Amino acid sequence: MKVCEYCGKKAMAGRTHRHRHSAWAQRAPKTGRWFSVNLQTVHVNAGGGTTRKVTTCTKCMKAGRTLRSA
Ligand SMILES: [Zn+2]
Repeated sequence: MKVCEYCGKKAMAGRTHRHRHSAWAQRAPKTGRWFSVNLQTVHVNAGGGTTRKVTTCTKCMKAGRTLRSA
């Protein structure tokens, strides 16, 4: 499973809840699913004119934790 290198965020398990169901189903059907994180691979400045590839979530990208190279 891929993990964000800055905040350690990864996919979480949850359940889908179907609101519309037939009469014989007494309760609304619920099934398991994964809530995935929007992970991107970006090149960041590693110093000395070199770049490094990191896997990060878009929240960290937006917060400016990844200093992207040009
Ligand atoms: Zn993150």
